[in-house]
Amino acid sequence: MPYLHPDLPAAETIDIPAMRAKYLRERDRRIKKEANDQYVPASGKWAGLYETDPYTPVAPRDPITGETDVVILGAGYCGMMVAAQLKKAGIDNFHNIDHGGNFGGTWYWNRYPGIQCDNDSLVYMPLLEETGYMPSKKFADGYEIHDHCQMIADHFGLRKNALFHTLIERLVWDEKINRWHVGTNRGDDIKARFVVLAMGPLNKPKLPGIPGLDSFKGKIFHTARWDYDYTGGEWRNPELTKLADKKVAIIGTGATAIQVVPYLAKHAGQTYVIQRTPSTIDRRNNQPIDPHWYNSQKPGWQNERIANFHRAAMERLIPGEPDLVQDIWTEISHNLSADLEAEGWPEITMEEYLARRDVMDYRVMERLRNRCDVVKDPATAEALKPYYRYLCKRPASNDDYYPAFNQPNVTLIDVAETQGVERLTEKGFVHNGVEYEIDCLILASGYEVTNDLDRRWGIERIEGRGGLSIYDYWREGFQTFQGMTAHNFPNMFFTGFTQAGANASNSKTFIDQGFHIGYIASEALKRGATTVEPSQEAQDEYVRHLRSIAVDNSAFTNECTPSYFNNEGDQTKKRWIFGEPWGEGYYAFEDMLAKWRAAGKLDGLVLSSEPELQPAE
Ligand code: NDP
Repeated sequence: MPYLHPDLPAAETIDIPAMRAKYLRERDRRIKKEANDQYVPASGKWAGLYETDPYTPVAPRDPITGETDVVILGAGYCGMMVAAQLKKAGIDNFHNIDHGGNFGGTWYWNRYPGIQCDNDSLVYMPLLEETGYMPSKKFADGYEIHDHCQMIADHFGLRKNALFHTLIERLVWDEKINRWHVGTNRGDDIKARFVVLAMGPLNKPKLPGIPGLDSFKGKIFHTARWDYDYTGGEWRNPELTKLADKKVAIIGTGATAIQVVPYLAKHAGQTYVIQRTPSTIDRRNNQPIDPHWYNSQKPGWQNERIANFHRAAMERLIPGEPDLVQDIWTEISHNLSADLEAEGWPEITMEEYLARRDVMDYRVMERLRNRCDVVKDPATAEALKPYYRYLCKRPASNDDYYPAFNQPNVTLIDVAETQGVERLTEKGFVHNGVEYEIDCLILASGYEVTNDLDRRWGIERIEGRGGLSIYDYWREGFQTFQGMTAHNFPNMFFTGFTQAGANASNSKTFIDQGFHIGYIASEALKRGATTVEPSQEAQDEYVRHLRSIAVDNSAFTNECTPSYFNNEGDQTKKRWIFGEPWGEGYYAFEDMLAKWRAAGKLDGLVLSSEPELQPAE
């Protein structure tokens, strides 16, 4: 039965026009003209914050110069899903190549205290039915997800050729041999028939652009490379005992910091939480998964749950459809369903639905703001309140974050007015003219999600036919066929939200993309093709159609506070994490691909069977 959240304030208690005006004021004072350029890349003198692996020693190995069918760049969720689907399509000769020391991607690198998934693990964790794995609780711990990644790797036999602690530096198409040269920082030059870029959006940390960042002489690290040698404790038991006599500042209050702060509050002598924009933080209510319930699910349950979550989070629940997930991601939908049910499910247009959704958005945000009142100091409670629309930023949930601010060793430093930390000194940070001495600065400043592609991907050269660089080719926007291939880049596949369908569960997106890529690659091999790529005409038509059905949400994103969700407030460039998704929705996109595959003609792709030349050694 749909239900209204019990703490939801009535619409009449909110002055919506006044609130909207406040949202706009709060956005305006945070807009920085530098947008993405405000951030410092984790390269050059900061390369260690990205390149060093604090968890697994790097084992020496000889460079590899052999041939393979496929190189998959990445061994996180996306790279693993592609690999698993290639196996199913009968392609066994591939390397997953990853900078990390094992499978897991973001779940390999992120080991900070408190790390859990923020999404329903029954939706978020991939291939639960296939691997026979039951997550322990609604929001699984990071190490549990990491361990499940190892299980997936073993289940599908992905380990044999995986290359870890290896950064791809060059992907260069060699017309003479119809192969990609894959050059790495380990001296490898692998000749690959196909290459799949599966690096995910959150692989490269970015650093806050604070004047004097390099003058600070204390300890500094990014949350994606947590230094347990310094803090004490360990990933699976984060008792940060070495911080007892330390003053620590954490920069950022996004999804990562929300999980870390309660642990700093518990262990550090003093914690400064440096906040530019507050997050929305619902209650967590993390419950164990009931094995009886789990074992009673019928085959296919996970895909049904994912589809239900997708409708609730990104579209609209079907009349009478239950909300299976029931958390902050789906609340607006289930509240609306409760209202509509009470009215006997009147027929309403999408416009009317969206108008109701707008009002519900204000009510839910007000409910979330009210949660801050648990903080006893009124000024701190007010500063913690988020004034923007739901989904302007990624929603979080945590039961211990707000109470932490009632501890005497935790101080909120609100830097909204100065648009960030004023400056760093040798000993600490300066805010409102006051220097705060600290021992350690923890950067929870996020990832290169919306910066230029070369900076995000960190691969020096990606060159297709005639030395054409993908960075030049896509400078004015993506040009793809089905979001996964591009003209002039034969035998190369792209993943993620480029110009494809975007599911609310990214592992579903990756599984389906892996399946589609596996289909094309295996068909090309069966048909004796040496190269496969879209024709210019097919690609142009695809991009034209995609743009003709695009849903313009800029009215919404323009009014949001800056973040990677809206290209840091710079609406002049389409560099958003969500790329250019298929406007008719994820499942319409998947239907379109399924029909295309069923036709068996590989329409729009050009297969050539030029004779394969021997690689020139
Ligand atoms: P975010 O990009 O979400 O947050 C970065 C934070 O750093 C923001 O609060 C930002 O402030 C702040 N910041 C940046 N520069 C400055 C500055 N100069 N001064 C002060 N503050 C600054 O990064 P996160 O690592 O928190 O999250 C990234 C993503 O990782 C999430 O959105 C999510 O997709 C993923 N994640 C997923 C989890 C899961 O459960 N699956 C858990 C944790 C993270 P401002 O907002 O003002 O820009």
